[in-house]
Amino acid sequence: MKAPAFSYARPRQLAEVLSLLDRHRDEARLLAGGQTLLATLNMRLSEPALLIDLQGLAELRALQVSGNVLRIGAMVTHSAIEASPDVARHAPLLALAAPHIAHRAIRNLGTFCGSIAYGDPAAEWPACLLALDGTVVARSVNGERRIAARDFYTGLYTTALQPNEMIVACEIPLAAPHQRFVFDELSRRHGDYAVVGLAAGAQVQDGVLRQVRLAWLGTGSMPQRSLATEQALEGRTVDEAVIAQAQQTLRQELQVEGDLTHAPATKQHLAGVMLKRALRALTQQPALQA
Ligand SMILES: Cc1cc2nc3c(=O)[nH]c(=O)nc-3n(C[C@H](O)[C@H](O)[C@H](O)COP(=O)(O)OP(=O)(O)OC[C@H]3O[C@@H](n4cnc5c(N)ncnc54)[C@H](O)[C@@H]3O)c2cc1C
Repeated sequence: MKAPAFSYARPRQLAEVLSLLDRHRDEARLLAGGQTLLATLNMRLSEPALLIDLQGLAELRALQVSGNVLRIGAMVTHSAIEASPDVARHAPLLALAAPHIAHRAIRNLGTFCGSIAYGDPAAEWPACLLALDGTVVARSVNGERRIAARDFYTGLYTTALQPNEMIVACEIPLAAPHQRFVFDELSRRHGDYAVVGLAAGAQVQDGVLRQVRLAWLGTGSMPQRSLATEQALEGRTVDEAVIAQAQQTLRQELQVEGDLTHAPATKQHLAGVMLKRALRALTQQPALQA
């Protein structure tokens, strides 16, 4: 199928983007890497009157450490994150997750913020943003507001963004000494969306876990943290009994929905296996140095 007819704008200034968004609201769509939007247009799942192309805005390509956060501009691609020494050093979870996203050609064009905005529940970045306690920086003609990752997703492909707002950047707190990270996912083929995935982090000192973060993808209508399981692991040393107890807590709290190929019970089982692997990996890998 071909995309429906639409008008096209390629602004040179952010103010112009915001003004167009404000004027056209739900009738407009931002075009970032186009790796999701163009497919939905071609399938006529989306029929906007206006596409606002962000490619002309060099300022949105910045990926930099700013104070105590890593700031990822709206046009930073998956590949740029994968290759960045700053990401490897300050947000290693992102470096671990990036190779799981689609294939090289898609990673070269698709953007981190586009993935956050789209909010596919099986996508890697939304779960990473949750696990890292990240922040979405949204802007409109009325100014800027910051939305914590835990408040950003409100349902299936639904976010807290208003129709006249765009994401200008996402911010990730810099990894602290003794923090360790694991990213794991099961997909039918490498590069496919996850059947189930886990973005995990913790401070590990003398084998004791603190500030455990467990964010799941592919399990429900949006990415989710398993807060009770995180709490059950706080201050614990990982052994078989602790793993079994954490798995039981996870079974009770994780909201799991089936998809076209996997039943909820299968996904629930896979999540338990992934939790066990992640806890072992977190306690066995070397920590980031102070
Ligand atoms: C074959 C294939 C396989 C894929 N596999 C995976 C995968 O395994 N994992 C994965 O995570 N993704 C996968 N993707 C999707 C890919 O990662 C996309 O790049 C990403 O989801 C969207 O980023 P984009 O820059 O291409 O956004 P676009 O397609 O340009 O936009 C997507 C949506 O987000 C909105 N948007 C974009 N930028 C902003 C912004 N700054 N502010 C507000 N709204 C914005 C757009 O208006 C649109 O509604 C796959 C894509 C393809 C084609």
